[in-house]
Amino acid sequence: MSLLGTGILKGLGVTLKHFIQTYAEDFKYIGKKAGIEPRPLRRQNPANHGMVTVEYPREHMVMPENFRYIPFLVKDSATGEDKCTSCGICAKVCPPQCIWIVRTEDPVTKRPVPAPKEFHIDTSVCMNCGFCAEFCPFDAIKMDHNYEITSMSNRQTELVFDKDRLMMPDTYHAGIHPADWARELEDKKADEAKKKAAAEAKVAADAKKAAAAATGASAAATKTAPPPKPPAPPAQ
Ligand code: SF4
Ligand code: SF4
Repeated sequence: MSLLGTGILKGLGVTLKHFIQTYAEDFKYIGKKAGIEPRPLRRQNPANHGMVTVEYPREHMVMPENFRYIPFLVKDSATGEDKCTSCGICAKVCPPQCIWIVRTEDPVTKRPVPAPKEFHIDTSVCMNCGFCAEFCPFDAIKMDHNYEITSMSNRQTELVFDKDRLMMPDTYHAGIHPADWARELEDKKADEAKKKAAAEAKVAADAKKAAAAATGASAAATKTAPPPKPPAPPAQ
C-alpha cells in the first residue's frame, strides 16, 4: 500500500514540477527572449522545461515551408494576371479528382484562351498530397499553410473553393515559400538568358546566311555577266 502511495506522490511531483517550470520558462521568455523567438517554437524545443505542447488555438505552430494543406492559385502581382493557363494537368494528376476547371473561350473565334474561366477544388475531398503543385508546369498552384478551414455549414457552399477563394498574390506565395520562390526567380532568370542567347544565335545565323547569299549572288553575277564589247574599228 505504502509503495502505491509513493508512486502517486512521485507522479504528482512530476506534474507539479512541470507546472511550476512552465511559469518559470514564461518569466525567462518575457524577461530575456521576448521578440527574438516565436513562442510556439520555443515550446516545442525538447531542451525546454515545463509545458512542451502548443496552446492551440491561442498559439499557432510556425509551419515549415514544405508543410502543405489545401492548394491555392497564384496571381502575378506585377501584371495582375493569373499564372494558370487552364492546361488541366493538375486536374488530371489529382488522385481523388477534386479539381474542376472550365477554360476561357474567345467570344469571337470560340478558340480556347489560356486562362481559367472557373476553377474549383473540393477541399473536403482533397487529400493534401501536393501532386497538383508538383506537376503544374507554370508554378501556378501551390500548397497553402492555412489549415483552419473547417465549417459548420453546407459542405457544397463552404468547402468547394472557387477561383476567387483560391486566388492569392505571388507575394503571399513568396512569404510562405521563400526557398521555392527563390528557385522560381532563378529559373525565370535562366529561361530569359536562354531565350536571349537563342535570339542572338538566330540573329547571327541569319546575318551569316544573308552574307553567304550576297556573296553567292555576286559570284553568279560575275559569272553570267556578258564579255566586254571589243573596241569599235577606227573610221576609214
Ligand atoms: S494550375 Fe497549373 S497545372 Fe493546373 S491548370 Fe493551371 S497551369 Fe495547368
Ligand atoms: S493536393 Fe492532391 S488531392 Fe488536393 S487538389 Fe492537389 S492533387 Fe488533388
